[in-house]
Amino acid sequence: MKALFYSIPGIENLTFADYPLTDLSDDEILIETKCMGVNPIDYYTITGIHGINGPKMNISPYPHIPGTEVAGVVKRKGEKVKSKFVEGDRVIVYNRLFDGVCKYCRNSMEMHCINGGMIGLVTNGAFAEYIKVPHQNIIQIPDEMSWEKASALPIAGLTAFNAIEESGLKPGESLLVFGGSGNTGLFCSQIGKNVGCITISISSKPWVKDFGADFVFNNNASLKDNISDVTNGSMMDVVINSLGEQTWSQGMNVVGKLGRIITFGVLTGGNLITDGRLLYNNQITIKGITGGSIEGLGRLTELANRENVKTKVWRRFSLEDSKKAVEKIFDKNREGRIIIENY
Ligand SMILES: [Zn+2]
Repeated sequence: MKALFYSIPGIENLTFADYPLTDLSDDEILIETKCMGVNPIDYYTITGIHGINGPKMNISPYPHIPGTEVAGVVKRKGEKVKSKFVEGDRVIVYNRLFDGVCKYCRNSMEMHCINGGMIGLVTNGAFAEYIKVPHQNIIQIPDEMSWEKASALPIAGLTAFNAIEESGLKPGESLLVFGGSGNTGLFCSQIGKNVGCITISISSKPWVKDFGADFVFNNNASLKDNISDVTNGSMMDVVINSLGEQTWSQGMNVVGKLGRIITFGVLTGGNLITDGRLLYNNQITIKGITGGSIEGLGRLTELANRENVKTKVWRRFSLEDSKKAVEKIFDKNREGRIIIENY
């Protein structure tokens, strides 16, 4: 099959060429890829380093095919796979490997499985014509759902869905999203709107109002006053802030009593300085989350279809041009997703 792969870490070492498609294991399903999302994790996979001065990534096998987010079609099942799926079914891949028996899996937290790992990091990924995945990792998608929307659900969509659920956001509460125009931010504001809350996005892009944001504010000296105005002084119930240390104190300053701050990333650095007095005086909860459960991905798929949750695509690339797609991931002009199409 044709695939994008590398033998030595580094974007410059990516090659698009023939890669052997080995036999299917008994418990695997072969998927013909249709649409792949390109995410920062793919860049880190290829460079071998997680973020700025971050830890070394554990990648296998080599030569390695990256790609962690995919929608496609079932082509073939391993001999012992008893699942309902048949050739031609449209599916997405839950990208965390899981054993189904450890204490985290038994509590519907497969993303923390002690025998886990991420598809595309510890296995070959999706930037290829085909990908082999464990049969329990696939979820069917509705016939009417577009490939590009489906491919946004396993990473950006599921992370946002889990963040909102873990925040305990209730109808009538207020939700603030830092990085409101990012892929996860757009899901957060739309899912929050669906819960029935007042949504505020921090962004310089007015178009985020088309994605569930009731108000859009810049992160400037007026932020606290602006938020006080729209919440009648009660400030935010939930703040989602995955931008890291550069915006952490602003988030702390606008959260109200019994507020919850959720983080799933530290784009600008991980040294999050918190004033303990604010924390206990206002009884604030700070919670970290990562990814989400496979059951959550199923519910998100239904929600995204039923409520017509939208995604924004910035650039489309063919599989042949997938190296260019990876090179664009940190482009400062990026507004929306980068996808690789194979149809
Ligand atoms: Zn497990």
